[in-house]
Amino acid sequence: MKKLRNRIEQIKKKRPGYREILDFYQKIREAQDDAKASLSIDPIKLKQEWKKLLAKEGFSLIQKEDFPVDAEASVKLFQSVCQIGKEANPHMAEQVKKIEEAIQNKRLDLRKLLKKGVKEKKVEQVADEFGLDKKVFSFLIQSSTKPSIEGGMERLRGEIDSETWLKGYCPICGSLPSLSLLKEEVGKRYLLCSYCGYQWRIDRLFCPFCNNKDQESLHYLFAEGEEAYRIDLCDKCQQYIKTIDYRNLAESDPVLEDLATLHLDILASQKGYKRPVPNPWTT
Ligand SMILES: [Zn+2]
Ligand SMILES: [Zn+2]
Repeated sequence: MKKLRNRIEQIKKKRPGYREILDFYQKIREAQDDAKASLSIDPIKLKQEWKKLLAKEGFSLIQKEDFPVDAEASVKLFQSVCQIGKEANPHMAEQVKKIEEAIQNKRLDLRKLLKKGVKEKKVEQVADEFGLDKKVFSFLIQSSTKPSIEGGMERLRGEIDSETWLKGYCPICGSLPSLSLLKEEVGKRYLLCSYCGYQWRIDRLFCPFCNNKDQESLHYLFAEGEEAYRIDLCDKCQQYIKTIDYRNLAESDPVLEDLATLHLDILASQKGYKRPVPNPWTT
């Protein structure tokens, strides 16, 4: 956390425009870090005989909703995240107020909602039922279950070879990547799972969203003086992924670096490219 705080201070000085959103990020990360300390999640049962077949057929190890969640800890964290959100912006404050009312009236039972893992459809249904902004509610749920999901990913990490999967989706949970990372002198390229945070290797020239490998239709852009960040564009599907080049940057939290370079997303969007996995922190 100390490293993260220092890096946030560094970015704030360089780009004061990001001050508010970085404060918000820091507070939530601190709350998640606190929650991690007392986390208790059920073991994930894997049928070993299925594992090989799944991998061979290109299926992920589990589904997003199979991650066990510590409902108790998540509900507590949900409350903290709501408090932080309330202070962050008026729209979030309004949404949190609606949620708190529903909980007080005993119409919304978060523990029940999270007990069997995060079911995306169920979360959407609840948002509909209480007239909530789906994006905000999903963000709050995701932020408060993140420690459980990451804990589950850590447990499954040993079941997978991160160097040989080479596909555009996560070998653990099947989700799309939110970022790509270049590492080591030779510039090995990795994808970061938008859901569980797992990282796996892929080819340098490859669009994870349409599997395009054609050099002619893959290119990238970056801003002058910011060579550590680039936007990898694919002309075939008109989508892009942001890449963080750790050969030009000291080790740091990729999600933070993504958040501090939203201007590059604007640039890509102006050029007509879409980001398949939007940055959840901008909702
Ligand atoms: Zn994943
Ligand atoms: Zn593509």
